[in-house]
Amino acid sequence: MAGIDIHGLSVVYPNGVRAVDELTLSIADGEFFALLGPSGCGKTTLLRTLAGLEQASSGSITIGDRDVTGIDPARRNVAMVFQDYALFPHMTVAENIAYPLRVRHAPRARRLEVAEDTGAELSLSGLLDRRPAQLSGGQQQRVALARAIAMGADVLLLDEPLSNLDARLRLEARTFLKRLQRDLAVTTVFVTHDQAEALAVADRIAVLDAGRIRQIGTPREIFQRPADTFIANFIGSTPMNLFPGRFVAGGIEAVGTVLPVPTGLDHREGPTVTIGIRPEYLTLRPGNGIRGTVSVVENLGTTALVVLDCAEGIQLGVTVPETDEPTIGDELTAVPEPGHTLLFDSDSGELLTADSP
Ligand code: ADP
Ligand code: MG
Repeated sequence: MAGIDIHGLSVVYPNGVRAVDELTLSIADGEFFALLGPSGCGKTTLLRTLAGLEQASSGSITIGDRDVTGIDPARRNVAMVFQDYALFPHMTVAENIAYPLRVRHAPRARRLEVAEDTGAELSLSGLLDRRPAQLSGGQQQRVALARAIAMGADVLLLDEPLSNLDARLRLEARTFLKRLQRDLAVTTVFVTHDQAEALAVADRIAVLDAGRIRQIGTPREIFQRPADTFIANFIGSTPMNLFPGRFVAGGIEAVGTVLPVPTGLDHREGPTVTIGIRPEYLTLRPGNGIRGTVSVVENLGTTALVVLDCAEGIQLGVTVPETDEPTIGDELTAVPEPGHTLLFDSDSGELLTADSP
Protein backbone atom coordinates (compact mmCIF):
# COMPACT_ATOMS: atom_id res chain seq x y z
CA MET A 1 0.00 0.00 0.00
CA ALA A 2 1.03 3.55 -0.49
CA GLY A 3 0.39 7.21 0.06
CA ILE A 4 0.27 9.70 -2.80
CA ASP A 5 2.28 12.90 -3.11
CA ILE A 6 1.31 15.38 -5.77
CA HIS A 7 3.63 18.31 -6.23
CA GLY A 8 3.05 21.40 -8.39
CA LEU A 9 1.02 19.34 -10.83
CA SER A 10 -0.45 21.01 -13.90
CA VAL A 11 -2.32 19.36 -16.75
CA VAL A 12 -2.88 21.49 -19.85
CA TYR A 13 -4.86 19.98 -22.72
CA PRO A 14 -3.69 20.58 -26.30
CA ASN A 15 -6.54 23.11 -26.75
CA GLY A 16 -5.02 25.22 -23.96
CA VAL A 17 -7.47 24.31 -21.16
CA ARG A 18 -5.55 24.23 -17.89
CA ALA A 19 -7.62 21.51 -16.18
CA VAL A 20 -5.24 21.07 -13.23
CA ASP A 21 -3.34 24.13 -12.11
CA GLU A 22 -0.22 23.95 -9.90
CA LEU A 23 -1.76 21.46 -7.52
CA THR A 24 0.08 20.22 -4.43
CA LEU A 25 -1.48 17.59 -2.20
CA SER A 26 -0.50 14.68 0.05
CA ILE A 27 -2.79 11.71 0.59
CA ALA A 28 -1.88 9.34 3.43
CA ASP A 29 -1.47 5.59 3.13
CA GLY A 30 -4.87 3.97 3.65
CA GLU A 31 -6.75 7.26 3.57
CA PHE A 32 -10.21 7.66 2.03
CA PHE A 33 -9.73 10.97 0.25
CA ALA A 34 -12.46 12.84 -1.66
CA LEU A 35 -11.96 15.32 -4.48
CA LEU A 36 -15.04 17.52 -4.41
CA GLY A 37 -16.00 20.27 -6.80
CA PRO A 38 -18.48 21.38 -9.42
CA SER A 39 -18.58 19.87 -12.89
CA GLY A 40 -15.60 20.93 -15.01
CA CYS A 41 -13.29 21.77 -12.09
CA GLY A 42 -10.74 19.13 -13.11
CA LYS A 43 -11.59 16.12 -10.91
CA THR A 44 -11.58 13.51 -13.68
CA THR A 45 -8.44 14.97 -15.23
CA LEU A 46 -6.60 14.78 -11.92
CA LEU A 47 -7.71 11.18 -11.38
CA ARG A 48 -6.75 10.15 -14.92
CA THR A 49 -3.38 11.81 -14.45
CA LEU A 50 -2.82 9.81 -11.24
CA ALA A 51 -3.68 6.68 -13.23
CA GLY A 52 -1.31 7.68 -16.03
CA LEU A 53 -4.07 8.06 -18.62
CA GLU A 54 -3.31 11.77 -19.01
CA GLN A 55 0.14 13.30 -19.07
CA ALA A 56 1.32 15.84 -16.54
CA SER A 57 2.38 19.09 -18.21
CA SER A 58 4.52 19.91 -15.17
CA GLY A 59 4.98 18.81 -11.58
CA SER A 60 5.31 15.34 -10.12
CA ILE A 61 3.33 12.41 -8.70
CA THR A 62 4.81 10.00 -6.19
CA ILE A 63 3.01 6.83 -5.14
CA GLY A 64 4.58 5.13 -2.16
CA ASP A 65 8.26 5.94 -2.58
CA ARG A 66 8.16 5.77 -6.38
CA ASP A 67 8.03 8.78 -8.70
CA VAL A 68 5.45 7.65 -11.26
CA THR A 69 5.12 10.91 -13.20
CA GLY A 70 6.43 9.50 -16.48
CA ILE A 71 5.57 5.85 -15.89
CA ASP A 72 2.93 4.18 -18.02
CA PRO A 73 -0.44 3.21 -16.51
CA ALA A 74 0.12 -0.55 -16.37
CA ARG A 75 3.21 -0.11 -14.19
CA ARG A 76 1.67 2.22 -11.60
CA ASN A 77 -0.27 -0.48 -9.77
CA VAL A 78 -3.30 1.77 -9.60
CA ALA A 79 -6.90 0.65 -10.20
CA MET A 80 -9.52 3.03 -11.52
CA VAL A 81 -13.31 2.72 -11.55
CA PHE A 82 -14.79 4.91 -14.25
CA GLN A 83 -18.00 6.88 -13.96
CA ASP A 84 -19.75 4.64 -16.52
CA TYR A 85 -18.13 1.46 -15.04
CA ALA A 86 -16.71 0.47 -18.47
CA LEU A 87 -17.51 -3.23 -18.04
CA PHE A 88 -16.91 -5.58 -20.98
CA PRO A 89 -20.42 -6.36 -22.28
CA HIS A 90 -19.48 -9.68 -23.90
CA MET A 91 -17.84 -11.06 -20.74
CA THR A 92 -19.56 -12.61 -17.73
CA VAL A 93 -19.36 -10.99 -14.31
CA ALA A 94 -16.67 -13.50 -13.29
CA GLU A 95 -14.63 -12.77 -16.43
CA ASN A 96 -14.99 -9.05 -15.88
CA ILE A 97 -13.80 -9.30 -12.28
CA ALA A 98 -10.84 -11.51 -13.17
CA TYR A 99 -9.87 -9.50 -16.23
CA PRO A 100 -6.84 -7.83 -14.61
CA LEU A 101 -5.47 -11.31 -13.87
CA ARG A 102 -6.05 -12.47 -17.43
CA VAL A 103 -4.02 -9.54 -18.67
CA ARG A 104 -1.23 -10.80 -16.42
CA HIS A 105 -1.68 -14.35 -17.79
CA ALA A 106 -2.80 -15.87 -14.49
CA PRO A 107 -4.07 -19.48 -14.90
CA ARG A 108 -7.80 -20.05 -15.29
CA ALA A 109 -8.26 -21.74 -11.92
CA ARG A 110 -6.64 -18.81 -10.13
CA ARG A 111 -8.87 -16.36 -12.03
CA LEU A 112 -11.97 -18.23 -11.04
CA GLU A 113 -10.89 -18.30 -7.42
CA VAL A 114 -10.29 -14.55 -7.34
CA ALA A 115 -13.63 -13.88 -9.11
CA GLU A 116 -15.44 -16.01 -6.54
CA ASP A 117 -13.69 -14.50 -3.51
CA THR A 118 -13.91 -10.88 -4.60
CA GLY A 119 -17.44 -11.41 -5.91
CA ALA A 120 -18.48 -12.81 -2.52
CA GLU A 121 -16.98 -9.79 -0.75
CA LEU A 122 -19.15 -7.54 -2.88
CA SER A 123 -22.33 -9.66 -2.64
CA LEU A 124 -22.15 -10.82 -6.26
CA SER A 125 -21.94 -14.56 -5.65
CA GLY A 126 -25.18 -15.50 -7.40
CA LEU A 127 -24.44 -13.32 -10.42
CA LEU A 128 -21.04 -14.51 -11.61
CA ASP A 129 -22.36 -16.11 -14.82
CA ARG A 130 -24.43 -13.13 -15.91
CA ARG A 131 -23.45 -10.48 -18.39
CA PRO A 132 -23.42 -6.76 -17.46
CA ALA A 133 -26.64 -6.07 -19.41
CA GLN A 134 -28.45 -8.48 -17.08
CA LEU A 135 -27.50 -6.51 -13.97
CA SER A 136 -28.97 -3.50 -12.18
CA GLY A 137 -26.96 -0.27 -11.92
CA GLY A 138 -25.95 -1.07 -8.35
CA GLN A 139 -24.77 -4.54 -9.31
CA GLN A 140 -22.77 -3.19 -12.25
CA GLN A 141 -21.16 -0.71 -9.92
CA ARG A 142 -20.14 -3.52 -7.59
CA VAL A 143 -18.68 -5.53 -10.49
CA ALA A 144 -16.60 -2.52 -11.50
CA LEU A 145 -15.38 -2.20 -7.91
CA ALA A 146 -14.67 -5.93 -7.69
CA ARG A 147 -12.60 -5.75 -10.88
CA ALA A 148 -10.60 -2.86 -9.43
CA ILE A 149 -10.08 -4.71 -6.14
CA ALA A 150 -9.09 -7.94 -7.90
CA MET A 151 -6.11 -6.07 -9.31
CA GLY A 152 -4.63 -5.91 -5.83
CA ALA A 153 -3.62 -2.33 -6.57
CA ASP A 154 -1.85 0.01 -4.15
CA VAL A 155 -4.30 2.78 -4.91
CA LEU A 156 -7.98 2.82 -5.81
CA LEU A 157 -9.25 5.71 -7.95
CA LEU A 158 -13.03 6.11 -8.10
CA ASP A 159 -14.58 8.61 -10.51
CA GLU A 160 -18.13 9.42 -9.35
CA PRO A 161 -18.80 5.70 -8.87
CA LEU A 162 -22.27 6.25 -7.40
CA SER A 163 -23.60 8.88 -9.78
CA ASN A 164 -25.49 6.41 -12.01
CA LEU A 165 -27.48 4.99 -9.11
CA ASP A 166 -30.88 6.23 -8.01
CA ALA A 167 -31.07 8.20 -4.77
CA ARG A 168 -31.96 5.32 -2.47
CA LEU A 169 -29.40 2.88 -3.83
CA ARG A 170 -26.80 5.59 -3.71
CA LEU A 171 -27.11 5.90 0.05
CA GLU A 172 -26.79 2.13 0.50
CA ALA A 173 -23.86 1.95 -1.91
CA ARG A 174 -21.97 4.70 -0.17
CA THR A 175 -22.28 2.99 3.22
CA PHE A 176 -21.14 -0.21 1.57
CA LEU A 177 -18.21 1.55 -0.06
CA LYS A 178 -17.12 3.16 3.20
CA ARG A 179 -17.14 -0.19 5.01
CA LEU A 180 -15.29 -1.88 2.15
CA GLN A 181 -12.63 0.81 2.07
CA ARG A 182 -12.11 0.53 5.80
CA ASP A 183 -11.79 -3.26 5.60
CA LEU A 184 -9.35 -3.13 2.68
CA ALA A 185 -7.50 -0.11 4.08
CA VAL A 186 -6.39 0.70 0.54
CA THR A 187 -5.53 4.32 -0.27
CA THR A 188 -8.60 5.60 -2.10
CA VAL A 189 -9.23 8.76 -4.07
CA PHE A 190 -12.94 9.29 -4.55
CA VAL A 191 -14.22 11.92 -6.96
CA THR A 192 -17.65 13.47 -6.55
CA HIS A 193 -19.56 16.68 -7.24
CA ASP A 194 -21.97 15.77 -4.43
CA GLN A 195 -21.00 17.48 -1.19
CA ALA A 196 -23.17 15.21 0.98
CA GLU A 197 -21.43 12.15 -0.47
CA ALA A 198 -17.97 13.61 0.17
CA LEU A 199 -18.88 14.57 3.75
CA ALA A 200 -20.32 11.10 4.36
CA VAL A 201 -17.51 8.89 3.12
CA ALA A 202 -14.22 10.76 3.25
CA ASP A 203 -11.53 10.96 5.92
CA ARG A 204 -10.46 14.21 4.27
CA ILE A 205 -11.76 16.31 1.40
CA ALA A 206 -10.08 18.63 -1.08
CA VAL A 207 -12.50 21.19 -2.52
CA LEU A 208 -11.49 21.99 -6.11
CA ASP A 209 -12.43 24.92 -8.28
CA ALA A 210 -10.99 25.63 -11.73
CA GLY A 211 -8.15 23.15 -11.31
CA ARG A 212 -7.03 24.52 -7.96
CA ILE A 213 -7.53 23.49 -4.36
CA ARG A 214 -9.72 25.87 -2.40
CA GLN A 215 -9.57 23.99 0.89
CA ILE A 216 -8.38 20.70 2.35
CA GLY A 217 -9.75 19.36 5.61
CA THR A 218 -11.82 16.79 7.41
CA PRO A 219 -15.54 16.83 6.62
CA ARG A 220 -16.14 18.54 9.98
CA GLU A 221 -13.53 21.24 9.36
CA ILE A 222 -14.94 22.01 5.94
CA PHE A 223 -18.51 22.05 7.19
CA GLN A 224 -17.79 24.22 10.24
CA ARG A 225 -15.03 26.48 8.87
CA PRO A 226 -15.41 26.78 5.09
CA ALA A 227 -12.40 28.76 3.84
CA ASP A 228 -14.53 31.09 1.73
CA THR A 229 -18.07 31.89 0.63
CA PHE A 230 -17.75 29.63 -2.46
CA ILE A 231 -17.26 26.62 -0.18
CA ALA A 232 -19.78 27.90 2.37
CA ASN A 233 -22.34 27.95 -0.43
CA PHE A 234 -21.35 24.57 -1.79
CA ILE A 235 -21.27 22.54 1.45
CA GLY A 236 -24.31 21.60 3.51
CA SER A 237 -27.66 20.12 2.54
CA THR A 238 -29.43 23.43 3.14
CA PRO A 239 -27.62 26.53 1.85
CA MET A 240 -25.79 28.68 4.37
CA ASN A 241 -27.32 32.09 5.04
CA LEU A 242 -24.90 34.73 3.74
CA PHE A 243 -25.73 38.40 4.23
CA PRO A 244 -23.88 41.70 4.58
CA GLY A 245 -22.94 43.21 7.93
CA ARG A 246 -21.03 46.23 9.21
CA PHE A 247 -18.99 46.69 12.38
CA VAL A 248 -20.54 49.29 14.73
CA ALA A 249 -20.12 50.09 18.41
CA GLY A 250 -21.32 47.03 20.32
CA GLY A 251 -21.40 44.49 17.52
CA ILE A 252 -22.12 43.90 13.87
CA GLU A 253 -25.07 45.66 12.33
CA ALA A 254 -26.96 43.38 9.98
CA VAL A 255 -30.52 42.83 8.79
CA GLY A 256 -31.85 45.65 10.95
CA THR A 257 -30.28 44.46 14.19
CA VAL A 258 -26.91 44.35 15.98
CA LEU A 259 -25.39 40.89 16.39
CA PRO A 260 -22.55 40.03 18.77
CA VAL A 261 -19.04 39.94 17.28
CA PRO A 262 -17.75 36.35 17.08
CA THR A 263 -14.92 35.56 19.46
CA GLY A 264 -11.37 35.75 18.16
CA LEU A 265 -11.90 38.98 16.26
CA ASP A 266 -11.08 42.41 17.57
CA HIS A 267 -13.91 44.81 17.39
CA ARG A 268 -13.49 46.99 14.34
CA GLU A 269 -15.63 49.89 13.31
CA GLY A 270 -16.53 50.55 9.69
CA PRO A 271 -15.51 47.71 7.39
CA THR A 272 -18.22 45.61 5.91
CA VAL A 273 -18.21 41.83 6.12
CA THR A 274 -20.29 38.92 4.89
CA ILE A 275 -21.91 37.03 7.73
CA GLY A 276 -22.49 33.31 7.37
CA ILE A 277 -24.86 31.31 9.58
CA ARG A 278 -26.19 27.85 8.76
CA PRO A 279 -29.96 27.35 9.07
CA GLU A 280 -29.23 24.60 11.60
CA TYR A 281 -27.52 27.15 13.87
CA LEU A 282 -30.42 29.59 14.02
CA THR A 283 -33.25 29.12 16.53
CA LEU A 284 -36.69 30.72 16.42
CA ARG A 285 -37.14 32.12 19.95
CA PRO A 286 -37.29 35.43 21.77
CA GLY A 287 -33.85 37.01 22.19
CA ASN A 288 -31.18 39.08 20.50
CA GLY A 289 -31.67 38.06 16.90
CA ILE A 290 -33.03 38.85 13.47
CA ARG A 291 -36.74 39.62 13.07
CA GLY A 292 -38.70 38.37 10.12
CA THR A 293 -41.97 37.06 8.77
CA VAL A 294 -42.42 33.40 7.91
CA SER A 295 -43.00 33.10 4.14
CA VAL A 296 -42.28 29.43 3.35
CA VAL A 297 -42.08 26.21 5.38
CA GLU A 298 -40.39 23.24 3.67
CA ASN A 299 -40.83 19.81 5.20
CA LEU A 300 -37.50 17.96 5.54
CA GLY A 301 -38.83 14.97 7.50
CA THR A 302 -37.80 15.27 11.14
CA THR A 303 -37.06 18.97 10.61
CA ALA A 304 -38.49 21.80 8.54
CA LEU A 305 -36.73 24.63 6.74
CA VAL A 306 -38.44 27.91 7.57
CA VAL A 307 -37.85 30.91 5.32
CA LEU A 308 -38.04 34.26 7.11
CA ASP A 309 -38.48 37.46 5.12
CA CYS A 310 -36.35 40.01 6.96
CA ALA A 311 -35.33 43.65 6.64
CA GLU A 312 -33.45 44.90 3.56
CA GLY A 313 -35.08 42.21 1.40
CA ILE A 314 -32.94 39.48 3.00
CA GLN A 315 -34.36 35.98 3.34
CA LEU A 316 -33.05 33.70 6.08
CA GLY A 317 -33.37 29.94 6.28
CA VAL A 318 -33.92 28.48 9.75
CA THR A 319 -34.15 24.77 10.54
CA VAL A 320 -36.72 23.85 13.19
CA PRO A 321 -37.80 20.50 14.69
CA GLU A 322 -40.91 19.01 13.09
CA THR A 323 -42.86 19.72 16.29
CA ASP A 324 -42.10 23.46 16.15
CA GLU A 325 -43.29 24.39 12.69
CA PRO A 326 -44.54 27.99 12.64
CA THR A 327 -47.42 29.29 10.55
CA ILE A 328 -47.02 31.38 7.40
CA GLY A 329 -47.20 35.05 8.36
CA ASP A 330 -45.88 34.56 11.92
CA GLU A 331 -43.52 37.34 13.03
CA LEU A 332 -40.56 35.65 14.70
CA THR A 333 -36.95 36.20 15.76
CA ALA A 334 -34.06 34.01 14.57
CA VAL A 335 -31.36 33.84 17.25
CA PRO A 336 -27.85 32.68 16.22
CA GLU A 337 -26.52 29.87 18.36
CA PRO A 338 -23.29 31.05 19.97
CA GLY A 339 -20.17 29.56 18.43
CA HIS A 340 -21.45 29.19 14.88
CA THR A 341 -21.32 32.60 13.25
CA LEU A 342 -18.76 32.97 10.45
CA LEU A 343 -17.39 36.22 9.09
CA PHE A 344 -16.06 36.49 5.54
CA ASP A 345 -14.22 39.34 3.83
CA SER A 346 -16.90 40.99 1.73
CA ASP A 347 -14.50 41.58 -1.20
CA SER A 348 -12.41 38.39 -1.38
CA GLY A 349 -15.00 36.13 0.25
CA GLU A 350 -12.30 34.61 2.46
CA LEU A 351 -13.06 33.44 5.98
CA LEU A 352 -11.99 36.04 8.54
CA THR A 353 -13.01 34.20 11.64
CA ALA A 354 -15.33 31.63 13.01
CA ASP A 355 -16.67 31.49 16.51
CA SER A 356 -15.05 28.63 18.33
CA PRO A 357 -17.88 26.45 19.62
P1 ADP B 1 -14.69 17.32 -13.85
O1 ADP B 1 -14.36 15.86 -13.83
O2 ADP B 1 -14.41 18.00 -12.55
O3 ADP B 1 -16.07 17.59 -14.33
P2 ADP B 1 -12.79 17.43 -16.07
O4 ADP B 1 -11.48 17.00 -15.51
O5 ADP B 1 -13.55 16.45 -16.87
O6 ADP B 1 -13.69 18.02 -14.89
O7 ADP B 1 -12.56 18.71 -16.98
C1 ADP B 1 -11.78 19.82 -16.55
C2 ADP B 1 -11.68 20.81 -17.67
O8 ADP B 1 -10.91 20.28 -18.74
C3 ADP B 1 -13.01 21.22 -18.28
O9 ADP B 1 -12.93 22.57 -18.65
C4 ADP B 1 -13.12 20.33 -19.50
O10 ADP B 1 -13.91 20.93 -20.49
C5 ADP B 1 -11.68 20.23 -19.93
N1 ADP B 1 -11.36 18.95 -20.59
C6 ADP B 1 -11.60 17.71 -20.12
N2 ADP B 1 -11.14 16.77 -20.95
C7 ADP B 1 -10.59 17.42 -22.02
C8 ADP B 1 -9.93 17.01 -23.21
N3 ADP B 1 -9.72 15.72 -23.50
N4 ADP B 1 -9.50 17.99 -24.05
C9 ADP B 1 -9.68 19.28 -23.77
N5 ADP B 1 -10.28 19.75 -22.65
C10 ADP B 1 -10.73 18.84 -21.77
MG1 MG C 1 -15.60 14.18 -14.19
